[in-house]
Amino acid sequence: MTDTTTGGDVRLTGISKTYGSFTAVHPLDLTVPQGSFFALLGASGCGKTTTLRMIAGLEDPTTGSVFLGDRDVTDLPPYKRPVNTVFQSYALFPHMDISENIAFGLRRRGIKSVKKQVDEMLELVQLGDKARHKPHQLSGGQQQRVAVARALINHPQVLLLDEPLGALDLKLRRQMQLELKRIQTEVGITFVHVTHDQEEAMTMADQVAVMNGGRVEQLGAPAELYENPRTTFVANFLGTSNLIEAEVVETGADVLVAAGGGRLRVPGERCASGVRTGEKVLVGVRPEKISLAHADDAGEIGAGRNRVTGRIVDSSFIGVSTQYVVNSPAGAELQVYEQNIERDTRLVPGAEVVLHWNPAHTFGLDAGQDID
Ligand code: ATP
Repeated sequence: MTDTTTGGDVRLTGISKTYGSFTAVHPLDLTVPQGSFFALLGASGCGKTTTLRMIAGLEDPTTGSVFLGDRDVTDLPPYKRPVNTVFQSYALFPHMDISENIAFGLRRRGIKSVKKQVDEMLELVQLGDKARHKPHQLSGGQQQRVAVARALINHPQVLLLDEPLGALDLKLRRQMQLELKRIQTEVGITFVHVTHDQEEAMTMADQVAVMNGGRVEQLGAPAELYENPRTTFVANFLGTSNLIEAEVVETGADVLVAAGGGRLRVPGERCASGVRTGEKVLVGVRPEKISLAHADDAGEIGAGRNRVTGRIVDSSFIGVSTQYVVNSPAGAELQVYEQNIERDTRLVPGAEVVLHWNPAHTFGLDAGQDID
């Protein structure tokens, strides 16, 4: 850590990584806004760690450049970049107490009076009462907080986190997600967080880059990615989506498609660009956006809603909602999650139903893609 004077965004321009004939990361351009919590999300092997390691300087890119603000740091070794990394294995020094672990970076740089800064860090990660404990006396979540404090005491411009919560059990993991988010908001520096857990990325990040096969498939705020996925991979990776095969009937402000013997409306800006009449598209809608009506009550459904017919094949009550599986001419096995239902028991397996939803919640994808 030698230079903390440069500020600004992290910018990757045309960055790629190949190992022999294998391309782990295809050339990608990515900007991480200064002060944001940014997640690289994807399944194992998609290239997210390699991308992170290229920002850290732990991996040389095959092509492209890494900028921190206006400064090209591509050729700088890791220790000369204003960047610190927190790994899944906390890598704390077992023989040192928590204070000494946190002070380590400062001491290595020859700084003698470290107490004030260490105390600030202990307070930030809420471990003031553990200063004299050894790492083995702390829980996994507490050790992870020490690792974060140890990285932050160097005042990096960017903190890189590589699956930092991967070793924690689910409950602790959820707590630490909120805790890391609080710390990031408090210190205001850029966090780039690698995870394969979509819920984790959605909970913590301001922006998420969804990676697949060494490429960024889509970049956006969590709600935007969830509500308006642009590829089948993103639609399926972030939660459950119903994808219905359809044919474009009319284009315009709304795109009208034919599916399962009926017509569905897709807002033009939520549909794959450049679709033409007669082309195939996949129409998507999230399970919790759909309501169910018994076929006998279909007349009560409001005008202007998208609707398809179906037959219930399975229903399960899971406390917060009832989850239905519905067979439909529009697409086998559509999923519907309904909350707060006040109705009689007619929606049992075998019941003929109409699925209906607000067209604003519909998205249209290029049917040329594979359905994962
Ligand atoms: P995980 O969550 O499993 O760590 P990831 O998305 O972080 O996955 P990377 O670690 O970036 O994936 O690896 C991307 C691809 O590059 C993988 O297929 C991996 O096997 C390959 N790879 C990574 N490092 C090397 C290396 N040093 N030599 C050869 N191939 C590598």
